[in-house]
Amino acid sequence: MDYKNIVVLTGAGISAESGIPVFRSETGLWENHRIEDVCVPAALVRNPKLVHDFYNGMRRSLKDKKPNPAHFALAKLQKEWTAKGGTVTLVTQNIDDLHEKAGSTGIIHMHGELNSIWCTACNRRFPYFEDSTPESVCPYCGKKALRPDIVFFEETPYRLDEITRALNRCDLFLSIGTSGVVYPAAAFCQYAGARGAQCIEFNLDVSAGAAYFDYGLYGKASETLPRFVDELVEKGTLLRPQSWQG
Ligand code: NAD
Repeated sequence: MDYKNIVVLTGAGISAESGIPVFRSETGLWENHRIEDVCVPAALVRNPKLVHDFYNGMRRSLKDKKPNPAHFALAKLQKEWTAKGGTVTLVTQNIDDLHEKAGSTGIIHMHGELNSIWCTACNRRFPYFEDSTPESVCPYCGKKALRPDIVFFEETPYRLDEITRALNRCDLFLSIGTSGVVYPAAAFCQYAGARGAQCIEFNLDVSAGAAYFDYGLYGKASETLPRFVDELVEKGTLLRPQSWQG
């Protein structure tokens, strides 16, 4: 096979067809809330109940959300590519659980997870499926110091060392359903490309960072990605049909 190590970066767009709204960068609104009210550290000080309630609502709504063919295609890629001796590192900016539900493993949730909570007193992060409040007590240390395990704007994403190592050794970088405006994820393509990886984006439209990709496949990820994965798994390399835009 022409490629060995693949890094996949996913964003809100891959889950849009499963009924989870994307982040509206043009209005700055996320699920009808302003980012500064629910997704910055100061919001937790100003109005912690609003922050907990916001993520409680999203966590509850995950229960009936199902993965779509794009999530399943990535699980298939990971399973079959690994069986051929390659690696697939799946990095997601998403806080939902649809990659897990589709069967992917070892997922790096660089922006945290709705189904996890963080005790800022004892610094433990652990699975959490209930509603939380500012009064919720940590089962480990007994302190009222739980917060949603979400990386807010102004905070450092998780597991950047691991991500950097995977980008250093990858020869194929796929970016799926991300607008390319949230850093540092938006810079992963430039980083991998500068080290020789082929970079391909999947989006409805040409994204803000499209110029850094070798080419893009435009349309619904649930349609473009399964076709792409089938070809990659079957041939171990990529042919670029005339119809693909770049
Ligand atoms: P974004 O909302 O900024 O951009 C989504 C991108 O996906 C857009 O470029 C859009 O054109 C594209 N898209 C929409 N539907 C698509 C489809 N069917 N197929 C292919 N592409 C499609 O998302 P982002 O770049 O991930 O950044 C937003 C931030 O908000 C992230 O940090 C993320 O953590 C958070 N977020 C997460 C979720 C989630 O967990 N599902 C949802 C909303 C926002």
